[in-house]
Amino acid sequence: MKRRLTAPREVLAELQQDYFICTKCKICQAVHVQFCDDSRFWRNCPSGTRFRWDAYYASGKMEIARGLHLHELEPGDSLRHVLYTCMLCSSCQEQCYEVKQLHPTRVFELMREKAVREGWGPMPEHEPLRRSMEENGNPFGLESRRRGDWARGLGMKRLPREKAQALFFAGDAYASDPSLRRAVRAAARVLLRAGLDLGTLAAREKSDGALMLLLGDRDLFETFACENIGTFNRLGVSTIVTPDPHAAWVFKEEYARELDPGVEVRHTSEVFSRLLGEGALKPEGEVPMKAVYHDPCKLGRRFDIYQEPREVLRAIPGLELLEFPRATFNSLCCGGGGGVPYAFPDFALWTAGERLREAESTGAEAIVTACPYCLQMFGKAVAAAGSGMKVYDLAELLLASLGEEA
Ligand code: SF4
Ligand code: SF4
Repeated sequence: MKRRLTAPREVLAELQQDYFICTKCKICQAVHVQFCDDSRFWRNCPSGTRFRWDAYYASGKMEIARGLHLHELEPGDSLRHVLYTCMLCSSCQEQCYEVKQLHPTRVFELMREKAVREGWGPMPEHEPLRRSMEENGNPFGLESRRRGDWARGLGMKRLPREKAQALFFAGDAYASDPSLRRAVRAAARVLLRAGLDLGTLAAREKSDGALMLLLGDRDLFETFACENIGTFNRLGVSTIVTPDPHAAWVFKEEYARELDPGVEVRHTSEVFSRLLGEGALKPEGEVPMKAVYHDPCKLGRRFDIYQEPREVLRAIPGLELLEFPRATFNSLCCGGGGGVPYAFPDFALWTAGERLREAESTGAEAIVTACPYCLQMFGKAVAAAGSGMKVYDLAELLLASLGEEA
């Protein structure tokens, strides 16, 4: 029998208290308004705001979860559309947990697991991602032998042939998308510049499985997770550092209990901030720019990593850090969450366009973020709108201030 991280079970029912006691108060539909001055930006659920029906807000989906539990509802195309247009961005949970201590986003994640188990999820458009996982070890069609191409010429140690204290895990999107190559190379170069003993698995790196878990395919996720955990534990590293918040999410929440004791998982923004504090990085080059920082959902609302990226940006000489009207826990999703762009690209692009307009309202010349999916979505939104807004990864600007190029 295949090794698993969790026992197969009816997980949705474990949160029945949450969906049975949802009072339809609809607090989850908006931001914390006391921290957002501009009423144009008070609505914060992308799917509810776009499709308007209550079913697309968290309040509606909680009622759907209750209906499924009681067998009052039968899954069908419209229910699947509701479930898979959710960005799993956690904005609803951010609001609800404050007042009711409920976990709506967690309920929707488990509804997706139920959908896959029962054969009515994910969307047919998600099938190529799943097939590529089985054929290539990643969801994006990248031949497995090309996975380490991004690291060519950086001088990183090759694991497991060599030993290193820290594993740099690029993640699926950074390793696959040539338009993100500068960003991932910048992240590695910053860490090498600070003197970290850093290694990569290069072509041996396999998908973290995060996208499969978001789609509800826990079995496929766990197949990859178990293999990766075995690999990581054999490497004997003390730290796993990744620029991908989705990889960090599954490593911290799902892998951690099986990783060797003492292995730390860090997002690059956390490590950059620490290295700056210790004086191991000294940004001295001017980067004259008005930049607004976009909080990736998995980094911010999931792990409260709000200050570290801002500390990095404040350390860059010449950079003026601006804030979105919806910032930190109030942030709007970039449109790249929950596997939505692969099934509903128009809706994903609409969401990214909303965020782009909000960025433009701040007077920023550039959006800076720390997630490959946010970078992809903002790149598409800028192209679609013909906007002059620049889009950068946090690591690119930090590297520039260190006087290097990726
Ligand atoms: S999910 Fe929470 S905030 Fe939203 S309607 Fe239900 S109880 Fe209210
Ligand atoms: S997770 Fe995001 S998109 Fe889904 S219901 Fe909650 S706020 Fe809306």
